[in-house]
Amino acid sequence: MTRILRCAACSRRVRAHHPHIGVEDLETGQEFSYHAREGCQERAALETAARLERGKVYAMHHYHSSRCPDEVPGWGCAGGCFDTPLAVAN
Ligand SMILES: [Zn+2]
Ligand SMILES: [Zn+2]
Repeated sequence: MTRILRCAACSRRVRAHHPHIGVEDLETGQEFSYHAREGCQERAALETAARLERGKVYAMHHYHSSRCPDEVPGWGCAGGCFDTPLAVAN
């Protein structure tokens, strides 16, 4: 099954094996995808902050590249998937 993901910021395709961000609406299960690159990542942070202000509950997922060498990757992973942490927390 192939799911075609589109970036909610630039509306271009998101390749599932490339690093990307998923913002999941915990009520509906709908998930918005964003590219890991700077502009789209920023947009994800802004849009998520705006939705949170309206009382929605979201979970943010960080999908690492399929070539990311870390087994439990996080920020600053060896694959360099995400350069800057999102300024969503706080
Ligand atoms: Zn994008
Ligand atoms: Zn990674």
